[in-house]
Amino acid sequence: MPYDYDDQNIFAKILRGEIPNDTVLETEHTLAFNDIQPQAPVHVLVIPKGPFVCHDHFAAEASEAELVDFLRATAEVCRITGVAPGAGGDGYRTIANAGENGVQEVPHYHLHILGGHNMGRMLPNA
Ligand code: 5GP
Repeated sequence: MPYDYDDQNIFAKILRGEIPNDTVLETEHTLAFNDIQPQAPVHVLVIPKGPFVCHDHFAAEASEAELVDFLRATAEVCRITGVAPGAGGDGYRTIANAGENGVQEVPHYHLHILGGHNMGRMLPNA
């Protein structure tokens, strides 16, 4: 089944400037902004500007320029927020929820970057 992008999702509205956001970084193809309900001292959402639903959609259909821009932007966000181990930070976790079982709430691909304290085990019962 093809991916069905809903252009009324909240991140699409942020990208169109209809809803404000607390921007951390903006590049040609990528926007990063602070999560409205942070789950850690650092909680940034990185999104492609293109209409992609989830990680596998983005990985399969984005252009190489979009893919590279997104990946490099995530690294830059880690550096800017001070969590990148390569820049003296204490580390972070990235999460990309997808679909029903991934409990994805917003159907526009986004990578969570979480850090600023120890994130604990990956899953509660791991
Ligand atoms: P998901 O469960 O889809 O992986 O995560 C969606 C994330 O988007 C949640 O962490 C939620 O707090 C965040 N979020 C939802 N609405 C808004 C909004 O209007 N602005 C910002 N900055 N974050 C939002």
